[in-house]
Amino acid sequence: MSEELRRQLIDTALEMNRSGINQGTSGNLSVRMGEGMLITPSGIPYPALVPRDIVYVDHSGKSDGSRKPSSEWRIHSDIYKAREDARAILHAHPAECVALACMQKAIPAFHYMVAVAGGRDIRCAPYATFGTQELSDHVLEALRGRKACLMANHGLVCLETGLDKALSLAIEVEQLAKSYLRCLAVGDPVLLDSEEMDRVLLKFKSYGVQDS
Ligand code: 13P
Ligand code: ZN
Repeated sequence: MSEELRRQLIDTALEMNRSGINQGTSGNLSVRMGEGMLITPSGIPYPALVPRDIVYVDHSGKSDGSRKPSSEWRIHSDIYKAREDARAILHAHPAECVALACMQKAIPAFHYMVAVAGGRDIRCAPYATFGTQELSDHVLEALRGRKACLMANHGLVCLETGLDKALSLAIEVEQLAKSYLRCLAVGDPVLLDSEEMDRVLLKFKSYGVQDS
């Protein structure tokens, strides 16, 4: 079981870079397991990873194995402890999200698909140094009622019910960031109002659910 999950984690990390939303040793990925999580090790390029490089970190922060866990293990751990709905967490440095994050801009309701992250907007967490508890606190707050947030001058965090879904969500948010930046280059996009976004959020509850 653990071996299989470790392989899935590596495959998704490789796919994250192949999809173009991340590069090099930026970003990190985890999946909930037992009373803790499996997480990518710190600073090792994904193509070099083998299953035993993946680190188990329990909810108290104790890690197992020969590798150091990702420097952002606190973000992952704090999300799993606070959010029952989180079974996989992805952190990446996607170019379009990073551009917005460097302007410390949230993504407002400029397109109905913003609701894919669970709310009326996608917030941008305030800046703090990578790998710190302060950054984790900011991210957890920005994720309140959401499945994704930007991180000022840094990147993106997504939580989902599985690894594939976390990757899909990250790709979707990157696409939204790209479109929003295009709008900003022309002017101020017309925003959807709260009532409309609430309608979309309601429709999303049954969207894609087939009868059989
Ligand atoms: P790690 O290699 O330690 O996971 O760090 C990458 C990163 O993106 C830090 O924010
Ligand atoms: Zn990062």
